[in-house]
Amino acid sequence: MPEELHEAYHPTNREEKRCECGEIFVFSRSCGADVCPSCDNHRGFARCFCGWSLSGRDGRVELEEMGETIDPDD
Ligand SMILES: [Zn+2]
Ligand SMILES: [Zn+2]
Repeated sequence: MPEELHEAYHPTNREEKRCECGEIFVFSRSCGADVCPSCDNHRGFARCFCGWSLSGRDGRVELEEMGETIDPDD
């Protein structure tokens, strides 16, 4: 298959939201964020109610420290 055609069959979608690890972000309803299936990175977030945090700490604890109210039913 000529290279141009090959490109057409596998277009490079520049709108794709890709994590720095190379995985494509998947929107998580529970987090309300685009989450990387590989490394758990949350696109545009520093911490999350699910417990993830950029710092490697507990995201929920960090949110509480920041004064966020966390729904106890969650
Ligand atoms: Zn999350
Ligand atoms: Zn990742």
